[in-house]
Amino acid sequence: MSYFFLDGYENMETYNPGEQPHDRPYIKLNANESSYPPSPAVTEAISSVEINNMAYYEDPYNTKLRETIGAVYGFPKEQIFVGNGADEVIAFIMMSFFREGFAIASNDVTYDFYRTYAQTFHLDYKKIPVKEDFTTDVDAFVNCGCDVILANPNNPTGKAIPMSDVERIVAKDPKRLVIVDEAYVDFGGESCLPLVDKYPNIIVVQTYSKSRNMAGARIGFGIANKDIIDDMRNVKFCVSPFNLNSLSQAIGIAAIQDEKYYSDCIEKVIGSRRYFETELIRMGFSIVPTVTNFVLFKAAPLIPADLMTQKLKEHGILVRYFGFEPRMRDYVRVTIGKQAEMELVVRNMKEILEEFREEKAAAIERRAAS
Ligand SMILES: *Cc1c(COP(=O)(O)O)cnc(C)c1O
Repeated sequence: MSYFFLDGYENMETYNPGEQPHDRPYIKLNANESSYPPSPAVTEAISSVEINNMAYYEDPYNTKLRETIGAVYGFPKEQIFVGNGADEVIAFIMMSFFREGFAIASNDVTYDFYRTYAQTFHLDYKKIPVKEDFTTDVDAFVNCGCDVILANPNNPTGKAIPMSDVERIVAKDPKRLVIVDEAYVDFGGESCLPLVDKYPNIIVVQTYSKSRNMAGARIGFGIANKDIIDDMRNVKFCVSPFNLNSLSQAIGIAAIQDEKYYSDCIEKVIGSRRYFETELIRMGFSIVPTVTNFVLFKAAPLIPADLMTQKLKEHGILVRYFGFEPRMRDYVRVTIGKQAEMELVVRNMKEILEEFREEKAAAIERRAAS
């Protein structure tokens, strides 16, 4: 730690992204990325003209990308903010509307980035426990008396809140800001975009990283009323006016217009999700029903969750274990990849289970013999 690091930062617990090891090829199902490539329109959009354009600063108003996203979702560009991933959009929301001491509530089991934002901006982060079945305690949010950030559908639980319930939280008090992070909405959630023109206090955030197969391009966007978007743009112009690089803007415009391509990919993911859920149940695991591109299942008592995660890694498959979160200790989260990948995961899981059963039986026998 340097002499200059701020007081209070010395024990900072940083966000822990899914590992990206390179010691061997892995099937990567630990960060909810898509196993499908971006739309072919993206390749076409990367022309030598676009490459040469990189010599110049891009349009800091991101006009064309905002117009295109707006057209897809039925909003004028004045209601669209674009950022370097949804994570940066949320960071600009924090910088614009939150300061030290402000309170913000979220689910206790959710995207860990909200906690690190709250830490960085010195907010009072209120964790509201999800219910036993991992659904959101909507009444607790309605009555929490502070601003709210919700992943909907939630990560890592895969559970969604109906729009009518989000509306109850938003409608309770127009002076409370409600941020709805819809990173997974395209896989089966209900979008809260219809609430944007009805209420002055909601921001919906979406991303290209999951359903549009472009996590590496870093494109996220927020949709809200014009005043909120103006505020965020002004803050952006004070911090990082050229936040989204020109190439990402060009491919972002091309990709979002190729609705057919990405809805086909989503359909394939949903099909493989159904297959994987069925196989998990057949193996004897209990699953948390999901409307996302990942499945959370309970590994225990069949096998410890950390052991299953570890063994899968040894078999070349990366999945996610959230050991730091007490309520997640028995669970494993698996991103839904291509069908062939999911079949391989199932085959490997069966092997791992079988091996574990045999070892356990042998240990019992040894104990009985001694
Ligand atoms: C993956 C994820 C994001 C990240 O979005 P980026 O656009 O890649 O920054 C945001 N929110 C949730 C809930 C996520 O799971």
